[in-house]
Amino acid sequence: MNRISDILSHKQAYSYEFFPPKDEVQAKEMHQVMEELRSTNPDFVSVTCGALGSSQEPTYGAVSIAQNTLQLPIMPHLTCVGQSRADIDQTLHGYNDLGVQNILALRGDGTDTGEFGHAADLVHFIRSAHPDISIGVAAHPETHPLSPDHQTDRLHLAAKLQMADFAITQFFFNTDHYFRLVDELDARGCRKPVIPGIILFNSAVGLRRIASLNNTEIPAMLNEQLDHTSRADMSQLAVEVAFEQIDTLRAQGVPGLHIYTLNKSAPALALHKAIAT
Ligand code: FAD
Repeated sequence: MNRISDILSHKQAYSYEFFPPKDEVQAKEMHQVMEELRSTNPDFVSVTCGALGSSQEPTYGAVSIAQNTLQLPIMPHLTCVGQSRADIDQTLHGYNDLGVQNILALRGDGTDTGEFGHAADLVHFIRSAHPDISIGVAAHPETHPLSPDHQTDRLHLAAKLQMADFAITQFFFNTDHYFRLVDELDARGCRKPVIPGIILFNSAVGLRRIASLNNTEIPAMLNEQLDHTSRADMSQLAVEVAFEQIDTLRAQGVPGLHIYTLNKSAPALALHKAIAT
């Protein structure tokens, strides 16, 4: 089973996200990390693509490595920033040649959105040109930072998700935000699977920076823990936080768990061991 929508209709999926390596050394490291994580039997992996209209090439290279290393369903991320329809079509044909059957369709960050204004336009294009591809989209439990208000955000998200097959969320810490998102989509008649994204952060500065860019609340207790945890112990804290979140999410039922690995194997292995026991 290669299409993520088919996997989700059969089971709760467990997946990993990687970012593409910048050079040969990082490519070797990513290959090694994938080898190590293969033992945890993930259902699929995804590979991010560069922001601000940068080339899709590094993602394509990482997808090839993942395909050879893991022989698992792969989902490249595809952004429309700075891309024409012809660019997107060429990329999709390249993935098709690799046997890829899943795409995470995103707007990306940056002002030049090319020929696609919003991720929904990209979903529409992929659906029309490549009807067999299983399409995921991004969801922001705490409201996308560019949205004028929460209701408008939900309106656009529900419309986008109705055209796609499933969503993966931005990371969050307070699980209430995730459950509220699912309820709000349900109230709009949108019942597609929404997979929670779980981050295995490894630095307080880095986490605070991306949390503030994404409108992600860092609960007071975690904020305090970040202040009092050394860099060496940060991954251990991330695993404990992720474990607690997953406990709550699984108790209420979620369609999957998507782990933002930051291309590190040890925390992801520790988390998998903790939740498997
Ligand atoms: P959209 O769905 O287009 O939404 C963007 C904003 O436009 C929102 O405020 C939305 O409410 C609004 N909007 C949507 N439709 C309309 C409409 N019709 N009219 C008016 N307003 C509208 N970024 C990368 O660069 N590379 C990655 O690999 C990457 N991976 C990601 C993976 C996940 C799981 C997530 C959650 C995010 C990821 N991002 C990535 C970040 C993402 O590209 C940014 O959050 C981006 O700002 C928004 O992308 P989107 O696909 O949600 O956009």
